[in-house]
Amino acid sequence: DVPAAGKASTRYDLEKETELRFEVESGEAAEQVELELLTGMGEVFGSELNRNKKYTFGPGSKIAVFTWQGCSVNLYGKPEVAYVSKDTPMLLYLNTHAALEQMRKQAERDNERGPRVMVVGPTDVGKSTVCRLLLSYAVRVGRRPTFVELDVGQSGVSVPGTVSALCIERPADVEEGFSVQAPLVYHFGSTTPGTNIKLYNKLTSCLAEVFSQRCEVNRKASVGGCIINTCGWVKGSGYQALVHCASTFQVDVVLVLDHERLYNELKRDLPHFVRVVLLPKSGGVVERSKECRRDARDEKIREYFYGFRGVTYYPFSFEVRFSDVRIYKIGAPSIPDSCLPLGMSQDDTQLKLVPVTPGRDLTYHVLSVSSAEDGDEGARKGIVESPVCGFIVVTHVDTQAQVMKVLSPAPRPLPRHTLLIMDIRFMDMK
Ligand code: ADP
Repeated sequence: DVPAAGKASTRYDLEKETELRFEVESGEAAEQVELELLTGMGEVFGSELNRNKKYTFGPGSKIAVFTWQGCSVNLYGKPEVAYVSKDTPMLLYLNTHAALEQMRKQAERDNERGPRVMVVGPTDVGKSTVCRLLLSYAVRVGRRPTFVELDVGQSGVSVPGTVSALCIERPADVEEGFSVQAPLVYHFGSTTPGTNIKLYNKLTSCLAEVFSQRCEVNRKASVGGCIINTCGWVKGSGYQALVHCASTFQVDVVLVLDHERLYNELKRDLPHFVRVVLLPKSGGVVERSKECRRDARDEKIREYFYGFRGVTYYPFSFEVRFSDVRIYKIGAPSIPDSCLPLGMSQDDTQLKLVPVTPGRDLTYHVLSVSSAEDGDEGARKGIVESPVCGFIVVTHVDTQAQVMKVLSPAPRPLPRHTLLIMDIRFMDMK
């Protein structure tokens, strides 16, 4: 074999229904690993590989090449680990897809709506991967499913601290995942639903409503149904948020990954017509450390401003006068019930817009630019439920001059002047 660009290569001959799992070292200095399909057919998380094309995977990637019929592949470079496994739940996942496809066919026949599926389980059981797989299989048979991303810690669609929905029109790109043109994104503001569970549930309902409205006017979207990815927090309010999601989206199917207690609880608490299915997790799913998660979040924000692999963006940096914008935080700190003004409940405080006075502590915070019209006080009501049109990062605050410098994907001026602050910070090292 002639190694690509001087890299060592290793050939793997995979039997049918087996997968090659490999991990790329993480860290800035880590060497990328390339993958090439030589013979047969293979797929990465539901997306088919083209023969004799080299796919590049960067630091920290954890990949599985699965084959239904058998194939051979080459890996170029030095993966941290690489091994072949015969023990995968792929057949169960494919059967799940087949069952969902049956439901879509029936929906088509009976002029009803297609399956609404919620994927749940603790962190690192492969929820996002199962969503990607089911969505890619669905588009491959001509469906147009909607992906609903409720994982505010590790969003596959937008920056962390958001929930979103995306119509899937083609299978995920092997290297880059789903193409994210025009997603519908809402500001949550932090990486765990627990910081403001009322807001989290409210936004889940907003997405459900927009999706239902779309289904009413778009038959393909209705038949395609949706796949909802959720957070790994499955206890207490986290569990209640799952029950809320099931009810507001009127889900038909819940896929529980690797968590028997959660499976039993949901079976007990959801209406009997909801099909709750327990699925094993793949042995290939790798647990990620706190640092690993934080790096992934940081990378997602960097991608938003600077682009990804082949596509380079050139963000803008400009000054914004304090007097030109209104900055809010959603949710006032909770106070004891006994101290609340008469007639006010904690719910009201969690959804309240609290004006933020710009100061030095704003530096490095990510701000969502709300799509809400810049109106008077009356218009403030709709801000929580308005999607966002983009994000900026505060890079410097000058309290003397009453201006802040921001990093923005578009040139000045800002499209809107209502900004929502996130707990999340991004330090631009470029
Ligand atoms: P969750 O959404 O439950 O947190 P993910 O779907 O993000 O979990 O999976 C965690 C990591 O494991 C991801 O980096 C993913 O690429 C990797 N992964 C998933 N399935 C496999 C597999 N079969 N082999 C190797 N890596 C996998």
